[in-house]
Amino acid sequence: MDTQLKREDEAFRDEVRAFLEENLDVELREAGEKTSGISSAHDPLMRWHKILNEKGWVAPGWPQEFGGTGWSDMQRFIWSTECARAKAPKLYPMGLGMIGPTLTVCGTKNQQDEYLPKLLSGEHIWCQGYSEPGSGSDLASLQCAAVRDGDDYIINGSKIWTSYAQYATHIFCLVRTDKNVKPQAGISFLLIDMATPGIEVAPIITLAGDHEVNQVFFENVRVPVANLVGAENDGWTVAKTLLTFERSSAYAARLKLGLGNLEALIAASDAPALTQRFTELAIRVEAIEMTEFRVQAALAAGTPSSTGSSQLKIMGTEAQQAIDRLAMDALGPQAAIWQPELREIGANETPIGPAETQGIIADFLNNRAASIYGGSNEVQRNILAKMALGL
Ligand SMILES: Cc1cc2nc3c(=O)[nH]c(=O)nc-3n(C[C@H](O)[C@H](O)[C@H](O)COP(=O)(O)OP(=O)(O)OC[C@H]3O[C@@H](n4cnc5c(N)ncnc54)[C@H](O)[C@@H]3O)c2cc1C
Repeated sequence: MDTQLKREDEAFRDEVRAFLEENLDVELREAGEKTSGISSAHDPLMRWHKILNEKGWVAPGWPQEFGGTGWSDMQRFIWSTECARAKAPKLYPMGLGMIGPTLTVCGTKNQQDEYLPKLLSGEHIWCQGYSEPGSGSDLASLQCAAVRDGDDYIINGSKIWTSYAQYATHIFCLVRTDKNVKPQAGISFLLIDMATPGIEVAPIITLAGDHEVNQVFFENVRVPVANLVGAENDGWTVAKTLLTFERSSAYAARLKLGLGNLEALIAASDAPALTQRFTELAIRVEAIEMTEFRVQAALAAGTPSSTGSSQLKIMGTEAQQAIDRLAMDALGPQAAIWQPELREIGANETPIGPAETQGIIADFLNNRAASIYGGSNEVQRNILAKMALGL
């Protein structure tokens, strides 16, 4: 991939900037700026989703025939960079970023017709039901059971760490359909309506005081066999397809924004050790951006890298955590001030310390999870050891 912007890419960037300038009002920008978890606050997020859908830009990662934008890799890269710069709200990734593109590859025609348009419009909101208590990294050991009964499966068990299940209309789940084979061979992939009787969502409040994750319980939940994606007992193949979408995020644009926000605080600290760490991080972020270009270039050339997404996951999340750590150190004793009410959209209380304090603390606490979700960094390193180093 050519990393220099061509004239047509510059024109596209200008078009994107003009669109963002025109459509991101004060509330939307505030929601983007105050995002410290995976996604922004629900109401402004959904308003932004609908604005993007009207423009036809809500699903840049989908094939064009299903409602994608038809953008080149460079255009998608420009889009995510400009959204980060403009502080646009972060949309829910489980629908648009995971199950949507997976259904374009693995779904039946009926499933594509039923689910994809409602995902684009925002009528359906999806969450991801993979992890269970006791089955995270070792996902293949999952126990949530689906037993066939006529044209339905009956589901019993639970899923945990389910992000945004409290807002979701649907959940895509990995369920056990055969206990008598090797673990990966007895798993199926199901699409489940959250309004089905027998489903209960229990909140889990995070260290930062946010309600982002949940435990979802299934008790005799009937799900039509037509909601199976792929073949029965072949859910592992579908899950692996979905994970390739889950892990190919763009990190550099938001990391740059994080560093930019920190610049004034570091300058004011007058501490050479902090300035040095800041500079080292700026260099790391440049390296991440170049790695993103490299991964995109391989994709565009039709030779996708088998390790690029693992590499980026490790580099991106660890750089984020290092930026958060540096920000906390730069705040010094003021990092102990905790005024979570300031993170509400439209809050008008007076901050005790510097205005950016609450965002920094929330990012620091929430981003601890970034090296765990989406496949922990230790597991990503195992993948690199095997695939890149042949160990
Ligand atoms: C904020 C947040 C949101 C999440 N959202 C979702 C969601 O929406 N849907 C969903 O299904 N899941 C979700 N998850 C779950 C996430 O995918 C799991 O937490 C993750 O896969 C790790 O599993 P675990 O928590 O069971 O930890 P474990 O697998 O028990 O791991 C514990 C520790 O051991 C290490 N470890 C485990 N195996 C190995 C190994 N083979 N080699 C080296 N080290 C190893 C891990 O890296 C980790 O440090 C979310 C998690 C978080 C924190």
